[in-house]
Amino acid sequence: MIFAEKIPPLMSSENIDSDPVKKQFYYSILEEQEDPNFCLDPLQEENFKITENMLHKYHGRALLLTTPNCAMNCRFCFRRHMEIPDKKDFTEEISYISHNTVIKEIILSGGDPLMMNREKLYALIRKFDAIPHLKVIRIHTRAPMGIKNIIDDKLMQILSSISKQVIFVLHINHAEELSCHAIENIEKLKANNILLFSQSVLLKDVNDDIATLQTLFEKLIELHIIPYYLHQLDKISGASHFYVKKEKGIKLYEELRAKISGYCLPRYVEEKPHEKSKTPIYNPKAL
Ligand SMILES: *Cc1c(COP(=O)(O)O)cnc(C)c1O
Ligand code: SF4
Repeated sequence: MIFAEKIPPLMSSENIDSDPVKKQFYYSILEEQEDPNFCLDPLQEENFKITENMLHKYHGRALLLTTPNCAMNCRFCFRRHMEIPDKKDFTEEISYISHNTVIKEIILSGGDPLMMNREKLYALIRKFDAIPHLKVIRIHTRAPMGIKNIIDDKLMQILSSISKQVIFVLHINHAEELSCHAIENIEKLKANNILLFSQSVLLKDVNDDIATLQTLFEKLIELHIIPYYLHQLDKISGASHFYVKKEKGIKLYEELRAKISGYCLPRYVEEKPHEKSKTPIYNPKAL
């Protein structure tokens, strides 16, 4: 399947080969490399689908695939081969959550929830707000790094008018993604007392060195974003040239641990198909 190039306005440039930020978004011929260890559905998420738009894999939280749209198409995207229906509303998913009281948290993912039609997003948030056993609405987004003013006053007004706790998990892989406009978006979230976490993917020739990771995590803390996850790349077809071996990942992680404050260090994890949570990647010496 074709995964079109989609370059975020805040990160477009001519200088693609040498730039670790741009490299994430521009097509490369290396995507055509066949690797038997990489496949279309490494996470086997099909098994956890409640509907085509909802995954319930982990205890207490369900994940809604809100839209097929993203502000950008990361070439290593773990959902690049997935077809996410662009639904008008989410009646079935809302009903599933309403009837399932173990679910305390709804994660709006995608695609990127901030790229949904805004009225549709607001209606969805209000519907989740009306479910008593739901405590947290979590938004997984990368759009604030790609689009100026994507966090606007109306969105903030909706989020501060609801009774649930709102958490944002921002996908950021490199400190240079944090342009002044990206920081403006983040400052708005911060000003509204929204709890902010980050997730990053460990990517070859993008952020797989100590200085880049150290700068990224320290910069996140400076912006009041808690580094949450450093993901091992999912083995998705077309992304093998971004893969960093676990041995190298562990080495980087242990070197970082010796260099930066504990709170700057995210959890280094991988997603395994049938596990009940993300799986921490440990230094074998710890065993
Ligand atoms: C990562 C993920 C979550 C959220 O997991 P946390 O560890 O709570 O961040 C939920 N559902 C699915 C399917 C996931 O992949
Ligand atoms: S922002 Fe996330 S969902 Fe969208 S293309 Fe990038 S990795 Fe995929």
